[in-house]
Amino acid sequence: MRVAIVGGGIGGMALALSLHAAGIADVDVYESAPAIRELGVGINVLPHAVRELTELGLLDALSAVGIPTAEFIYFTRRGQRIWSEPLGLAAGYRWPQLSIHRGELLGVLHRAVEGRLGPRRIHPGHHLVRFGQDGSGQVWGELAPAAAAAATTRIEADLLVGCDGIHSTVRRALYPDEGPPRWNGVTMWRGVTLGAPFLPAAR
Ligand SMILES: Cc1cc2nc3c(=O)[nH]c(=O)nc-3n(C[C@H](O)[C@H](O)[C@H](O)COP(=O)(O)OP(=O)(O)OC[C@H]3O[C@@H](n4cnc5c(N)ncnc54)[C@H](O)[C@@H]3O)c2cc1C
Repeated sequence: MRVAIVGGGIGGMALALSLHAAGIADVDVYESAPAIRELGVGINVLPHAVRELTELGLLDALSAVGIPTAEFIYFTRRGQRIWSEPLGLAAGYRWPQLSIHRGELLGVLHRAVEGRLGPRRIHPGHHLVRFGQDGSGQVWGELAPAAAAAATTRIEADLLVGCDGIHSTVRRALYPDEGPPRWNGVTMWRGVTLGAPFLPAAR
């Protein structure tokens, strides 16, 4: 079975690895960006997700760049503790929760895809513009290059999976009346600074 994955983010790379683990290795990943770059902010990978990644043999690589999260705490702006709860292994899960930079998580997944499926299976600079299905059931896709002057590429596959993020081209084609994602009205501000550890779990 030939599978085309549209989007080389966390979902696309994880899917490529899961298909490979299930014995489906004829898989290509098409990514809009001209290169797979380690971008983003710190995120938390919850135990159920770490379980999947562990089964893909990635726990050691993730543990090398992530921190096992032990506790979740809310403070008032004056530093008074108002809520805390244990997380991950400290909460009794069999898999840790990991605090990790999104870019480094993607880097671990990307290197695993390159190593297991081969580097030529990842196609940066390929933006899916449209796709369809012919009478025999084969799926086709038309991909625009990162450089405007270059020609578009046509691909064929038995299965095309949209892993192209929140502004998904694939979803928009399948659900044209749905409209764009709705903002919930909340803006979150995040900040990071260097400082000496001051909580027991951080020491
Ligand atoms: C500030 C912030 C904090 C977050 N914190 C957490 C957290 O703590 N824990 C957690 O689990 N999640 C967190 N998330 C959510 C998490 O980042 C997303 O759920 C996850 O990245 C979604 O993965 P994805 O592969 O679906 O999409 P993405 O990671 O967005 O990847 C989509 C990829 O598809 C490519 N693409 C788009 N359109 C096309 C196209 N037409 N053709 C080809 N390629 C295309 C994009 O370039 C991109 O590389 C956070 C998100 C944000 C913004």
